[in-house]
Amino acid sequence: MVIPVFSARNPRTGVHDYQCEHTTASELDTIIKRLRANQPGWAALSVDQRLSAMEQFIATVERHKVEIFNALKTDTGRIRIAQLETGALAGQFKRIADDARAMLGDIATRPSMVPHILGSGHYVPYGVMGNITPWNFPLLLSFIDTFPALAAGNAVIIKPSEVTPRWVDPLRKALKEVPAVENVLAFARGPGDTGAALIERVDLVSFTGSVRTGRKVAETAAKRFIPVFLELGGKDPAVVLASANLDMAVSGILRASVAATGQACQSLERVYVARPIFDAFVERMVEKAKATTLDIDDAENGYVGPFIFERQADIVADHLKDAVAKGAKILCGGQIITKGGKWLAPTVLVDVTHKMKVMTEETFGPVIPIMPFDSLDEAVSLANDTTYGLSASVFAGSADEAMAVARRLNAGAVSINDGSLTAMVQDVAHESFGFSGMGASRFGREGILRYVRRKAVFTNTLGPMDVNGKIVPLA
Ligand code: NAD
Repeated sequence: MVIPVFSARNPRTGVHDYQCEHTTASELDTIIKRLRANQPGWAALSVDQRLSAMEQFIATVERHKVEIFNALKTDTGRIRIAQLETGALAGQFKRIADDARAMLGDIATRPSMVPHILGSGHYVPYGVMGNITPWNFPLLLSFIDTFPALAAGNAVIIKPSEVTPRWVDPLRKALKEVPAVENVLAFARGPGDTGAALIERVDLVSFTGSVRTGRKVAETAAKRFIPVFLELGGKDPAVVLASANLDMAVSGILRASVAATGQACQSLERVYVARPIFDAFVERMVEKAKATTLDIDDAENGYVGPFIFERQADIVADHLKDAVAKGAKILCGGQIITKGGKWLAPTVLVDVTHKMKVMTEETFGPVIPIMPFDSLDEAVSLANDTTYGLSASVFAGSADEAMAVARRLNAGAVSINDGSLTAMVQDVAHESFGFSGMGASRFGREGILRYVRRKAVFTNTLGPMDVNGKIVPLA
């Protein structure tokens, strides 16, 4: 029998140097059958018992962290971020553990609107959750929904991106050492068809990825009447008011635009600057962008790494070509460099308009298009001129000015005097607006309730009513 496989490309060398199994539909059936058989026992444990098994898993991951880091480094072509991702798992688990302990207990019995009928509330896990994840932060985004879903009593099957599959090998090794968790957590690898087949078989879907795929995922889930949570792309704006500290604004926006080579959902992708400071802002931005180095020759040195997904470099090049054809001027960067992998130096553009892809579609590269505005109303209207609504930034000289703009921005999270703060702070609930997502927040203390259903139990303390409306007293 031929075992189906797929290969993955190394983002630094450009070579397809890794092969792994492509989970078939019948293998999915087997995995999900096993998870389904084990999930009720897992759900029957107390929250503390589940968390203690998960703690053992975290400790095992810690023991395998060098292998996990090495695999993730090859998957993504980046060192510092792979270290951060690997190191962040324990902290991510701790937040979820605190939330689970605080939120998942039964809701106390209390009189209902009919005083002799008491109601109590219980949280019931869905069963098996399918967790489909992208390539840009492969490890972190695979566990951001998995930890709370497991803590809430679900079994989980993760379908990571086919672009970055290597980290699954050491993770599986760690998982094997903790049978209590291995019973309820599994991986399926393969391209989109594996994800599509997964949705046909699970009870709940959490998806992080593009709007295009998210729509397909939501349609399939809708046909099956199963809940789906979507965390999708963005086109985050930054609004820089005339009162802003120029150096702070330039530094914050540059970092939030080019960190992770711009391959982050919450990257700043468009910048609107008050006209009185526009020229100075652009000049300073170009100066700092030119000084931001690529790690092309030495992976240990340089800030901007290679594109993880080769096709992303083509999309970015297409956005730049489209912008230039429509009158934009590239002030620095602008050329994709191929040296095995593909890199792009921080690219600053001016003379941009909302007729260009670079101002309307997700670019997902280290690209900073800058546009002037003449009034606050214009700035807000430009920032809100998008189908997305993930997050945004405002830079201003006073908290009041910044907050006034933040309140008017149509986005689920706004960072003031910084960019991408949602990547650092996960304990305040926020949803993704517009095409950037769908479903309750996975953040904040109540985020854990996304992975359970609410069930009420009613007790009639007097006795049931007969057909004549007379209470038949309890014996
Ligand atoms: P993608 O949509 O191409 O793929 C995501 C996952 O979906 C992959 O595992 C893929 O194999 C799977 N998939 C593909 N077709 C499928 C189908 N028909 N049914 C089920 N699954 C299918 O996204 P990507 O290119 O891997 O990731 C980049 C995108 O993710 C960007 O748009 C980015 O903004 C977004 N993202 C969003 C967040 C967030 O929290 N909002 C975080 C990170 C990335």
